Amino acid sequence: MRKKIVAGNWKMNTLPAEGVELAKQVAAGKHTVCDCVSFIVCPPFTHLSEVSKTLEGTGIAVGAQNCAAEAKGAYTGEVAASMIAALGCKYVILGHSERRQYYGETSGTLNRKMEQAYANNLVPIYCVGENLDEREAGKHFDVVKAQIEEVVYNLTPEQFGKLVIAYEPVWAIGTGKTATAEQAQEIHAYIRKVLAAKFGAAAEECPILYGGSCKPSNAAEIFAKEDVDGGLIGGAALKAEDFLAIGKGF
Ligand code: PEP
Repeated sequence: MRKKIVAGNWKMNTLPAEGVELAKQVAAGKHTVCDCVSFIVCPPFTHLSEVSKTLEGTGIAVGAQNCAAEAKGAYTGEVAASMIAALGCKYVILGHSERRQYYGETSGTLNRKMEQAYANNLVPIYCVGENLDEREAGKHFDVVKAQIEEVVYNLTPEQFGKLVIAYEPVWAIGTGKTATAEQAQEIHAYIRKVLAAKFGAAAEECPILYGGSCKPSNAAEIFAKEDVDGGLIGGAALKAEDFLAIGKGF
């Protein structure tokens, strides 16, 4: 039975005190959601410490939204995976489409970030997904296949056993347009097939989350699909009520 995960990507939103308040609200409402759901929140770097402390003992995990490709040293403005781990974080989002698009992250960079994450016992939430042109040209399968082959295929079986994948069609992120449950299932099943080609039966254990305008009104339908193991939530993760309601989609 695969883990069911609802992860919140807060992006560059909330001031530290607001983030702590949001985390408190999520923790306070967690008992209303099935114990079978693992919640993760990914605040900005500046609040990782406070949010981690706030969530200690609640069963809600904390993740960062990115990490450096290097271990340490003269990399002004970067944050090392070791620093993130030292704050009590368990996860790190890598390869989000906004990082690929606005900060030029390539598979080469992402391979190095993945290594840093694993070297520091962080579980990567590795994002893949096509843009609108690629979807309309019917290239979405090839795009996600390449994103997986160029990065995930470089993992050892042991590392792969600790990976979470998020399928996030770029055309659905923050646009209000959601992939249909059928579209999500189709590509999640395909992703699992691509993973199985390299890692065999272990692909059955890898959680694959859907992301892209997931909200309380559509979560249950999407999560009901066989190969959808939860969601990576952007906008709707900024309201505890909505984030928790998405968790009730299971
Ligand atoms: C995201 O960017 O990870 C995301 C899924 O955003 P939204 O839910 O706002 O579309």
